[in-house]
Amino acid sequence: MRTVYVVGVVVLGVLLAVVFLPFFEKKPPKVSLSKGSLKVGVCSEITLNLEDEGRGLRDVSIELFQGPRRWSLYREVFPKGIAQKTVHVSLRPKDLGLMEGQAVFLVKVRDRSLWWFGKGNSQLVEVPIQVDLTPPDVELVDVTRYVYEGGSGALSFRTSQDAVEAMVKIGELIFRAFRKGEGLWWGLFGVPYGKGQERAFLEVRDEAGNIRQLSLPYTLLPRSFKHEEVRVSDEFMTSKVYPLLPEGKKGLQPEEAFRFINEDMRRENDAFLTKIASEGLSAEPLWEGAFLQLPNSQVRASYGDSRTYLYQNKPIGSSTHLALDLASTSRAPVLAANSGKVLFTGTVGIYGNVVILDHGLGLTTLYAHLSQWNVKKGEMVQKGQVIGYTGDTGFAGGDHLHFAVMISGHPVNPVDWFDPKWMKERILSILQPEAGG
Ligand SMILES: [Zn+2]
Repeated sequence: MRTVYVVGVVVLGVLLAVVFLPFFEKKPPKVSLSKGSLKVGVCSEITLNLEDEGRGLRDVSIELFQGPRRWSLYREVFPKGIAQKTVHVSLRPKDLGLMEGQAVFLVKVRDRSLWWFGKGNSQLVEVPIQVDLTPPDVELVDVTRYVYEGGSGALSFRTSQDAVEAMVKIGELIFRAFRKGEGLWWGLFGVPYGKGQERAFLEVRDEAGNIRQLSLPYTLLPRSFKHEEVRVSDEFMTSKVYPLLPEGKKGLQPEEAFRFINEDMRRENDAFLTKIASEGLSAEPLWEGAFLQLPNSQVRASYGDSRTYLYQNKPIGSSTHLALDLASTSRAPVLAANSGKVLFTGTVGIYGNVVILDHGLGLTTLYAHLSQWNVKKGEMVQKGQVIGYTGDTGFAGGDHLHFAVMISGHPVNPVDWFDPKWMKERILSILQPEAGG
């Protein structure tokens, strides 16, 4: 009888525990930071991940301490059932009156457990931060002073040791600069085509996100650009335009079909190539001397040519050509214009079969409409090495090479890069000022 009683109490106890223990769970919530090192600049954001495996998060409070001073930065009470939460705390040290130097974040998170007389489990995390309000120092060593419209330039500069990132900004375009050595940097930039003289800046950032900007002086040299009319034949419609259309668009009338390819697909393809080419991240020049033009080739279209397309004598679209069209014999061998690394091979809509080479410092060359390529992504190639053969794949009226030069993914006029004198005076002597060029 007594045994039955004891067993009954134990069973009841176990049942109660199974039902109510989860309310009293003892696991504290977890706090993690999205970034390892915490340097806080003029305007920073701290991102915290909060997590509770048991009954969920109850509340969080974040305080900041520096010396004897204390600021309450953030407080949030969570509704029931929140297991995970990302909290962003923006911080403007100058508004708070923080000084440069050490400070500490104190993060307190509680969960919804009923443990400890209903107070729940809490987690206290101290996060030391470094307040840095001084942007890096920067001093221009040299910059190309005379740049053609749509042309290229170079610069070299010195920064204090805390600089982690640098770029040239011209209008809306951004060109990455690269670290050369002890506080020394170098980079290339392009002056946009068709925008006139735009302001140019060198921008340098430190780890805390502090920014120093320096105005870059340059003189824009005008260049004249051609306009041409291109007649679109029915044969071109059938053999080039329609095959490029995606399945859902095959029923379009010729003019709409042409517009879709020339506008929508061109925009999408250009964005894709810009993205690929901006990933050319070799931090030093891989090129040797001037760039090679396709041997025995004639220039059929130049950089900056604007085109109006006519179909049955009516304009049906336009485009601006930001490359060279070079024609030789059909299926002519295409040579690497300079030494570099294969960044991309593949088929890209209107450009057909494409190879992109990375020559370092953000400089890339693009070879389009190829009948075939014979290099692999990641492979190193030598100047003059055969990388493929010309063709008429994509939106090409005949066998030719569409050759583009890009800096940080933005097309610049290729012809300058064929000229050893221009390269020496406007690029190499700027990148290597110590060489005395
Ligand atoms: Zn072209």
